[in-house]
Amino acid sequence: MSNPDQRLKMPAAKALCSARGRERSAHFELSVLDALAAHVCVLDERGIIIKVNQAWRRFAEANEGCAERCSEGSNYLSVCERALQNTAPPEPALQSFLAQLRLVLAGSLNEFQLEYSCPSPQQVRWFSVRVSRVGGVNPPLVVVAHDSVTELKLVEAALRTHEAELLDLAASMPGALFRLLVRATGELQFVYFSPGIEGLFGLTPEQACGDGRALLRCVSQSARVACEASLRKAVAAGQTWEHEVQVCAPGGVPKFLHAKATPKPAGPGEWLLTGVLTDVSDRIQAERALKTSTEAFRLFFETMPQGVLYHDLAGRITAANPAACELLGLSLEQLLGKSSFDSTWHAIHEDGSEFPIEQHPVMETLRTARSVRQVVMGLCLQDGSLVWLQVNATPLFKCGDLAEVYTSFEDITELVRTRQELHRQASTDYLTGAANRRHFMERLQAEYGRIQRRPELSSCVVTLDLDHFKQINDGFGHAAGDAVLRHVTLLMRLGTRPLDVVGRIGGEEFALLLPDTSCEDAQALAERLRLRIEQNPAQYRQAIIPVTVSIGISAIASADGSPEVALMRSDQAMYSIKRNGRNGVGLA
Ligand code: GH3
Ligand code: MG
Ligand code: MG
Repeated sequence: MSNPDQRLKMPAAKALCSARGRERSAHFELSVLDALAAHVCVLDERGIIIKVNQAWRRFAEANEGCAERCSEGSNYLSVCERALQNTAPPEPALQSFLAQLRLVLAGSLNEFQLEYSCPSPQQVRWFSVRVSRVGGVNPPLVVVAHDSVTELKLVEAALRTHEAELLDLAASMPGALFRLLVRATGELQFVYFSPGIEGLFGLTPEQACGDGRALLRCVSQSARVACEASLRKAVAAGQTWEHEVQVCAPGGVPKFLHAKATPKPAGPGEWLLTGVLTDVSDRIQAERALKTSTEAFRLFFETMPQGVLYHDLAGRITAANPAACELLGLSLEQLLGKSSFDSTWHAIHEDGSEFPIEQHPVMETLRTARSVRQVVMGLCLQDGSLVWLQVNATPLFKCGDLAEVYTSFEDITELVRTRQELHRQASTDYLTGAANRRHFMERLQAEYGRIQRRPELSSCVVTLDLDHFKQINDGFGHAAGDAVLRHVTLLMRLGTRPLDVVGRIGGEEFALLLPDTSCEDAQALAERLRLRIEQNPAQYRQAIIPVTVSIGISAIASADGSPEVALMRSDQAMYSIKRNGRNGVGLA
């Protein structure tokens, strides 16, 4: 049983306990409210603020004039109504807020939430406000909580800008971006296409993603199989997928697309490929055209009658066509790597003189980076034959720099031989084969020019006249006289060097041009010749015909004024011999 005093004391104790409990509870509620980042106020049903949390208070203090209006005891409804009156035109968000706040205060709406912006000189701030009636209390209470969502709004705006930029980028880039999902079942599904897909397949991104068959209709069965095989191989290896495929949108022209994508795991057994489709038709067509023209060039190179050689910058042969091998009498293996400046080529000019390396068309093109045209070159081949070539050399450039020399050449042996024969006929005396007067005078003129350029050199001209030749004609006949003329020519040839010129400059009058010969040497040669002619009579049929000659010699002087002057001097020396009894040698 309990003590009556104690029984009496119990209600007071209980009251004390419940008062303490309420105090603790109020303290707890306030702590919870203060801990919230949201700006919270509690209103009574008239809209009077009966409690605000710390965040509310701080915000009010930070905003000028707000602290008095929005502190405990102020009418929040009136504050909002005044704020609406001060906005012109009326702020729709505030209008809506006020209307719904009245409904909540009146008990006809339990809660609402809306977002509104709050411009400040520094930045636009965004808030989300939530108003709700507190259930189960009397008189009713309404909680207003403003939460700053400015950061969220800024991030959302940045994301939207970023996304728009990415979409712009995707739309403006050539080709189309895509994402392709390879499901665990092996099924393939495009999950994204950028707008560029329309230009490639004539399908919108939505159509291309929604209807896989629409895409497949643009690709042939074999191309589809090859495309899928390469894709699965790349995915299995976890490597970048690259593939080229021909597509043709219905009613469109065929295109070549290049697909490149990187696979990334997207879930158990699933892969997501992100990549790009590019129209490479121009490149493929250019490659095909190049291949066709390369094949055409190769055929032309292999079958053309002209010889073709390519040379590197050192003059070495890097390529040769079959005609070149045949014309040069060498195999491809023998030609490749061989230098064009090699002395084993034995090259000569048309006049028989040596062809110096520095005049070689390849050398000249390498030196000047210019084309050299129609150079005539004689080559003594390995089999001993002489072939005449007409050579063109062309420089080939890479990035503006000389990289190769291309030579083409044709066999003009027949032409050169004909030309040489014509020249020989035009320059040769028909009866004796000696140089005719015109040709002899040309050679004399050339030698005189050489002496003028180099006066230290000494060359001589010799005149030779048959003695009493008229008597030979008269005694043995004209034909015998002709035979004597040929006989004397032969003896003159035998007694001179190849570079000397034997000419018949009159009926029975001959001349010799002796380059690089002193007067003493010329005199000795003339004496030997005179003796040989005297000691070797001509023979015509059964007749032995003795013959002697009178010879005059003159040096060719650079001061002569003309080559004829030297010839006249030697003539005078010869006539002097004639006057003194003939069969002798005289030096002018
Ligand atoms: P000289 O010793 O003074 O030189 O007496 P020559 O008889 O040799 O001189 P001349 O000028 O009196 O006679 C030259 C002769 O050569 C006259 C001409 O008929 C002869 N003759 C000229 N051309 C030819 C030819 O092509 N064939 C032959 N057989 N005789 C020719
Ligand atoms: Mg004579
Ligand atoms: Mg004469």
